[in-house]
Amino acid sequence: MSARFKPPGQCPACGEWVPRGAAACNDCGACAKSGWNGDTHADGLDLPDNEFDYDDFIAREFGGQTSKQPLTTNLWWWVALVLLLILVVTALLPLFR
Ligand SMILES: [Zn+2]
Repeated sequence: MSARFKPPGQCPACGEWVPRGAAACNDCGACAKSGWNGDTHADGLDLPDNEFDYDDFIAREFGGQTSKQPLTTNLWWWVALVLLLILVVTALLPLFR
């Protein structure tokens, strides 16, 4: 494919007309950076996710910094635990009579 393509002209990737000064083909998304070869589909997937902060993710998921985590989450865990405890005690109570 032609890496020397410069708009205006027909897109080397899909044949669509690319207007003068266009940075990328409107139809297939090919651009000068990709060499106008139409391989831009995977471009976005290959980019490293700079927005993703791993340390922040770990801190939020496993850390003690629960400022962003609603307290109700912990509350419901306690409610479930107490209910389970009551259930177990109720089930075992006849054994001790
Ligand atoms: Zn195109």
